[in-house]
Amino acid sequence: MFKSVHPFDQSIVAQYDVLSAAELDKCLETSASAYRHWRKTSFEHRRELILTVAGLLRKNKEKYARLMTLEMGKLLSESTIELEKTIRGCEYYAHHAEDFLRDEIIYTEATKSFVTYQPTGAILGIMPWNFPFWQVFRFALPALMAGNVALLKHAPNVTGCALAIAALFKEAGFPDGVLQSLVIDVDLVERIIASPVVQGVALTGSEYAGSQVASLAGKHIKKSVLELGGSDPFIILSDANLDKTVKVAVQSRMQNAGQSCIAAKRFIVLESIREEFMEKFERGIRALKQGDPFQEGITTGPMARIDLAEKLEQQLQKCIDAGAKLIVGGTRSGCNFTPTLLDNVKQGMPAFEEEIFGPVASVVTVKTIEEAIDVANASRYGLGASVWTEDLKKGEQVARLIESGSVFVNSLMRSDARLPFGGIKKSGYGRELSLAGIREFVNTKTISLT
Ligand code: NAP
Repeated sequence: MFKSVHPFDQSIVAQYDVLSAAELDKCLETSASAYRHWRKTSFEHRRELILTVAGLLRKNKEKYARLMTLEMGKLLSESTIELEKTIRGCEYYAHHAEDFLRDEIIYTEATKSFVTYQPTGAILGIMPWNFPFWQVFRFALPALMAGNVALLKHAPNVTGCALAIAALFKEAGFPDGVLQSLVIDVDLVERIIASPVVQGVALTGSEYAGSQVASLAGKHIKKSVLELGGSDPFIILSDANLDKTVKVAVQSRMQNAGQSCIAAKRFIVLESIREEFMEKFERGIRALKQGDPFQEGITTGPMARIDLAEKLEQQLQKCIDAGAKLIVGGTRSGCNFTPTLLDNVKQGMPAFEEEIFGPVASVVTVKTIEEAIDVANASRYGLGASVWTEDLKKGEQVARLIESGSVFVNSLMRSDARLPFGGIKKSGYGRELSLAGIREFVNTKTISLT
């Protein structure tokens, strides 16, 4: 039995029964028969259905936004923004998938040789709760547009969102089994991966979950894409426009109560501008208003679960014990963790070595640009990064030297359907979004006619 709990006040939202192994097998059979039909549908048909989904999302935005906020506690305004991004994602893949998967002629001595991109089967998406709609669509849209079918295993605390997404696809006219939401315990995941209809698994989640699922995928020889944690550096060079930089620094670290894989987590600042940066950053963090995520004017909601808030509290305490300086925040009531600024963070502390998945900003001071790059790269993770400088040439040089899947210069590190998204090192492998994302789970097939 899964329980949805509203994180702000711990009230129980709903309870859900989980599927038995026999019920899961039925879902897998449905998936296999749906695939036999769906793989042959035209791009035009798929496009029409995805655009119907986008229309329904737009029409029922408030209903879905409230459900997200209720289940995982993000601000209602953030839920709305997430849905708008999801709608743009639908439109993007609806309009571009056909171009991305067009046959490519390759000239050889044969009469005709070409590459064609074909679907492979069902793709399992194992998803986290932090962006309960966007993450699911990010995996499902390219899969469905490519002619694959989708199986969703969502995080248990957002089961209401998982079921609402499956119902939405049904309402839009998708045939049974093309997208199914499986309410299951993790011990049934191997049964899914082992199933012959399943040809790939996309996991967005922690490093631990990634390694477990990748092992299962390897065992059963199924392709995997892993979008895991991060400890993104946010590098402030001495010529940065500090007002703009600080505004985005606060947004990047504190939005979604700090629970984003690509949140800026380590603020690496040049000594020459440290004082001014710290003064502005502290003011920005103190100005945040924590409280009920449904209430207007609140800028920081609760964290999604008590165990996550407790873990953050322990990580913070270990940093303080090791010499980090608490400037503001650091208190907790239930899931409500005050926006926190931590100075004097050094290598070896949890705020440097681990992922800090909550509203705690960690500042590391360095003397030179070279040191900033070394500190940025001295992480097990390599997901995103940002660099702040008024000199774009220098910004580009630094960006090229950062070990990560993306670097944004002078803007918020974010995912964008038009750009490949993913990480290196312990942040995972493979890419989502853009052309790269839709090519992950297709059969790149060579045909040669002589
Ligand atoms: P999580 O605990 O790893 O859970 C993610 C999903 O994986 C859940 O559905 C979870 O199900 C499942 N899972 C966990 N262990 C599993 C196992 N052994 N076998 C199969 N499935 C398993 O992560 P989370 O706390 O929900 O999400 C936060 C993490 O996700 C952070 O590390 C964050 O950085 C990362 N994240 C990464 C990205 C990215 O794009 N790179 C985006 C968002 C979040 P159960 O809960 O049922 O165990």
